[in-house]
Amino acid sequence: MKKINILSEETIIKIAAGEVIENPASIIKELVENSIDAGSTKISIEIAKNGAELIKITDNGVGMSKDDLLIAFKRHTTSKIIDIEDLEHTFSLGFRGEALSSIAAVSEVEIITKTENDEVGIHATIDHKGNIIRSDEIATNNGTTILCRNLFLSMPVRRNYLENKNFEITKTNDIINRLALSNPHISMDYVKDSDLIIKTNKDRDLLSNLYTVLGNNVGNNLIYFEEKAEDISIHGYVSNNLLFRGNRNSQFLYVNNRTIFNQEIGKSIEKAYSSIIPLNRFPVFVVYINIDPTKLDVNIHPKKSLIKILNSDFLNNKIEDIVKNAISESLKVPNIAEIKTNKPETIFQQQNIEDISIVEAENISEKLVEIRDYSSDYEVATTQNTEPNNTEKYREVNKSPKGETKITIFPNGYRYIGNLFLQYILLEDNIDKVLYVLDQHAIHERINYEKLADSYRSGSITSQHLMSGYVVEFTKNEFEKLIRMREKLLSLGIEIEEFGDNSIVIRSLPVFLSSESPEQILIDILESEKNIDSLYEFDPYKIMRIACKSSIKSGQNLSSLEVQRLIEELNNCEMPLTCPHGRPTMIKVSNKWLEKEFFRIQS
Ligand code: ADP
Ligand code: MG
Repeated sequence: MKKINILSEETIIKIAAGEVIENPASIIKELVENSIDAGSTKISIEIAKNGAELIKITDNGVGMSKDDLLIAFKRHTTSKIIDIEDLEHTFSLGFRGEALSSIAAVSEVEIITKTENDEVGIHATIDHKGNIIRSDEIATNNGTTILCRNLFLSMPVRRNYLENKNFEITKTNDIINRLALSNPHISMDYVKDSDLIIKTNKDRDLLSNLYTVLGNNVGNNLIYFEEKAEDISIHGYVSNNLLFRGNRNSQFLYVNNRTIFNQEIGKSIEKAYSSIIPLNRFPVFVVYINIDPTKLDVNIHPKKSLIKILNSDFLNNKIEDIVKNAISESLKVPNIAEIKTNKPETIFQQQNIEDISIVEAENISEKLVEIRDYSSDYEVATTQNTEPNNTEKYREVNKSPKGETKITIFPNGYRYIGNLFLQYILLEDNIDKVLYVLDQHAIHERINYEKLADSYRSGSITSQHLMSGYVVEFTKNEFEKLIRMREKLLSLGIEIEEFGDNSIVIRSLPVFLSSESPEQILIDILESEKNIDSLYEFDPYKIMRIACKSSIKSGQNLSSLEVQRLIEELNNCEMPLTCPHGRPTMIKVSNKWLEKEFFRIQS
């Protein structure tokens, strides 16, 4: 055993600093949050060499007096709370009094600051322990500028990482995007190596600021919503069924204007999209939640990016419902005219272009949808200048008996033109002059899925007893998983029992699955469980989605009567425009697009 040492103050400071300040992104976050807390209406962020050389934040907030400055960079100094009770009422982003001291510990800091009560400002240099080692008077505006140079110079591993890896810049860009949208009443700009990257303006509306971060071409596919419930108010924009990404970078969540990564709320929003966008794709959203601060615990994480919410189940369910309603009122059929790639406009899209290549290899219809949001140059031209938004015309929102809003497909009626490749149904809408291409298989899946979900909800799944039982052998792991799921499977009409030695006997199956191999059904279910994020609980709907896939035969040539019946059934569905896995059930080709392609009209 080694002897116990008491750590030096310098080492303690550095260890503590490491917790708060991990990279340039965390410095920027802490400094900008300080500027926000200082009541600023304009904040500028400037970085050079990915932040290794310089991070500079300028604000027009309240500034600091000479006395405050003397201790501001010391550990555990804050003007925001006096004791722990204050935390319950505070709306400020900071309160731990750790950021400035931590930043000074890992970089060379200079500060220029002036309050409105002072005639002149102060320009000071701070050492690694938070002492002022030089200070001069300076003529300057009210507010504060903090410059951090030579980040992590005394921490070779981190420094090296910073200088050699471009990786950190992604995190920096991400945090700046999040900050830029966090507070619509503050104008922010971000300059990187002399290039202006982002500029938001407090005098513009939320949507235009959102465009500067997400890119203009998401605009047609964002849905605004707002809702107040008890002491919570929620508003923001969520994507519709045509806009999604390969990662979660375009998900912005704010609670009392604090940018947070609260898994639960995010998951609840994502849940609203299951069966509406493809598997392993993520919705885009910018959601602002305001809650009475006594219902929040913001002090569970040194970086304050996680929070605990009292009564979070209520909020999570609420938000899932709100988002579901918002999306179901705005479902759109993908338009062939909008399938066209564009050059990326923002940092986000540069990242997402990479995501697209993943999709490239997959189902073509999925690709159409995925690419759809890169395409609006064209769409803006057609929908805004010439005629009313086509997609709007194709939906009529009515209330279904369940009281939910539900869309009606083909309100103008249609003519069945025929079947293509034994896979697609072609329909003509002669009033709006549109050709619809419907994916027979996807439609079947949607219809079966909703039938199944309906009978599941009403507890009326009919199952069929297998006379002799059906024995299947599994690995130990699979076996245990299935046994754990037994109750849930029973609610889906699938009855299984242990049969010794990792074998399972299937006693009954739901009628809708009776034509399938019982073994395959269980394999599919296990497969679906594999993809379930550990944060989601067992999801019977996910299993139904997998199960209904196997209940469909493709390659049929349908009679017009069969088509008519299919369309009727599809029209009765809650979500007729996507299959249960989120791929489109139909796309459309407008006459206008054809005329353009054939140069019959000038675009
Ligand atoms: P905290 O934000 O948790 O209070 P910090 O270490 O980030 O702790 O900041 C310490 C204090 O310095 C703040 O409480 C605030 O009084 C002051 N301060 C920091 N940044 C600014 C700023 N940009 N404008 C005015 N005061 C600031
Ligand atoms: Mg702070």
